[in-house]
Amino acid sequence: MKKFNQTLIEKISLRTLCNIEIKDIMLTVFFALTIFVTQNLTNDLIAGNGQNLLADEVKVHLQKRVAKIDANNPDAKPTEFEIEIKEETWKGEETAIIICDMWNKHWCKGATSRVGEMAPKMNEVLKAARKKNITIIHAPSECLNTYKNTPARKRIEGKHDAEFEKKYKSNKWFNGNLPTEKGAVWPIDQTDGGCDCEPQCKQGRAWNSQIDILEIDQDKDLISDSGTEIITYMREKGIKNVILMGVHTNMCVIGRPFGLRKMVTYGQNVVLMRDLTDTMYNSRKKPFVSHFKGTELVVEYIEKYVAPSITSTDLLGEKPFAFKGNEPKK
Ligand SMILES: [Zn+2]
Repeated sequence: MKKFNQTLIEKISLRTLCNIEIKDIMLTVFFALTIFVTQNLTNDLIAGNGQNLLADEVKVHLQKRVAKIDANNPDAKPTEFEIEIKEETWKGEETAIIICDMWNKHWCKGATSRVGEMAPKMNEVLKAARKKNITIIHAPSECLNTYKNTPARKRIEGKHDAEFEKKYKSNKWFNGNLPTEKGAVWPIDQTDGGCDCEPQCKQGRAWNSQIDILEIDQDKDLISDSGTEIITYMREKGIKNVILMGVHTNMCVIGRPFGLRKMVTYGQNVVLMRDLTDTMYNSRKKPFVSHFKGTELVVEYIEKYVAPSITSTDLLGEKPFAFKGNEPKK
């Protein structure tokens, strides 16, 4: 009996020991897995990525303003709009960024200084975009002589589709409005050229290159200010998503031959990066709001009638860019 008891005790002890070891191992594995999953989730959040996102994909949050229709009077002109945010996952190789007119110098001192202020953040966006195989198109209009014979210029120079060009006048500015802008009211008075300085700057041509802070990768990037070259290249390469950034939203970004309205006409899935842009708006003109509020009003107009917008957060995982003096209140 004594012997039996001893054997039983030994067996119980052994089992308890095994149980403890298995429990310990399971706990260790559990903690290791938790740390692994948490770290990866954090990395994804930092990179602005969600789960199940491939290295060359980008998750974008498209912001639009949708008109609220009055059920009692559906034909009335809408006065209220609701923000609608749609998430899409874009493949890098099907996406391009166009950098509009980030010139080294503008005739307006204020405009030149704001370009300098936003360029470092824009350069970070370009670096992140290249890692995702997004095509970068530098479009410093009227400055192409500076880039003559560079590989980035040569890669797109002369791209041309006669039929497409004839149909869409792809080398001309978009004058007038899109059908979706029918009845819309332009939110700011920019008839004086939009210089906000005191005294006002003298208008003229001051630019001869893109601002140097924006790096040009001669092995990958493109340089063009031609609507025909840009859209032909995109069609050849199967690029259907387009992110417009740069200046000025109320003039070149919306109207140039490679601008928002033209890209809409071409059927491209085009968006404005709303934190990396600026307007030419003089706050001494209607609607007599601050310069930055003027930009906001133009962005709202674009979101209502032209194309959705995104922010640099989608590529960098950081808070959106804000000019000094226009930072969000804490
Ligand atoms: Zn000025």
